[in-house]
Amino acid sequence: MRKIAVYGKGGIGKSTTTQNTVAGLVELGRKVMIVGCDPKADSTRLLLGGLHQKSVLDSLREEGQDVELEDIRKVGYGNTLCVESGGPEPGVGCAGRGIITSISMLEQLGAYEEEEGLDYAFYDVLGDVVCGGFAMPIREGKAQEIYIVTSGEMMAMYAANNICRGIKKYAQSGGVRLGGLICNSRKVDREQELIEALAEQLGTHMIYFLPRDNMVQRAELNRKTVIEYAPDSEQAQHYRNLAKAIDENTKQVIPSPMTNEELEKLLIKFGLYD
Ligand code: ADP
Ligand code: SF4
Ligand code: MG
Repeated sequence: MRKIAVYGKGGIGKSTTTQNTVAGLVELGRKVMIVGCDPKADSTRLLLGGLHQKSVLDSLREEGQDVELEDIRKVGYGNTLCVESGGPEPGVGCAGRGIITSISMLEQLGAYEEEEGLDYAFYDVLGDVVCGGFAMPIREGKAQEIYIVTSGEMMAMYAANNICRGIKKYAQSGGVRLGGLICNSRKVDREQELIEALAEQLGTHMIYFLPRDNMVQRAELNRKTVIEYAPDSEQAQHYRNLAKAIDENTKQVIPSPMTNEELEKLLIKFGLYD
């Protein structure tokens, strides 16, 4: 089983991209579990046709250790298995620890056992490794392969570089590797070239360039992935291509993060900085 975590700046498109990619993997015949690792609990909405009703942490709070797998894991589009970690009580507890608690719970309940026949577990992780909490899935070896969603916008690239720092820190000890950058376009000038250059500097590759397309919003309003809502659209095909690229990806690296000066130099080179 491949255990994949998706990181990137907030709002960059992690949840949308992850769910659409999972839908693409389903079409390839893969069995996938997706675990939302964001207190917003919106990582499985498009696969479930609406928000997940009960997060792992809510269930633990309400039912103690008596939680059953069926309570926290719902079957979504194409027989995907959907889980939301949820978050700690606002203002109390650590969101990162909450994620580990939920993953450990899933392990205890046998969600990763051989008979489940899983090809993939996806973790859709909040934020950009600004603290030890959000790096937990990497630190604790829960995720082995990371994809970073970015765009050509400076803060998204800045976050991508920071995430690489986090990955590098735990790569030697924990064996986690970077599988690549996914460019989710914001229609920045020369964006594809820019992200390819960023990837090269980070020692990785841009695994796919996803165009910005309003079809994503239309599908979202209908609580569906683009693949389910508009299977013949161009955007659906892009998500299928990304799924295939991940399924076939063998390039796993320990990234080489850049200094902030190097990152600025890259932006100047592409004319994004005066
Ligand atoms: P994150 O999980 O990183 O916080 P989301 O997946 O929730 O981000 O995406 C934020 C918003 O961006 C969503 O409302 C989604 O509709 C939009 N979005 C994401 N990817 C695209 C795209 N390729 N084209 C158009 N809109 C997109
Ligand atoms: Fe929140 Fe991170 Fe601190 Fe945990 S380590 S409480 S996730 S800021
Ligand atoms: Mg999200």
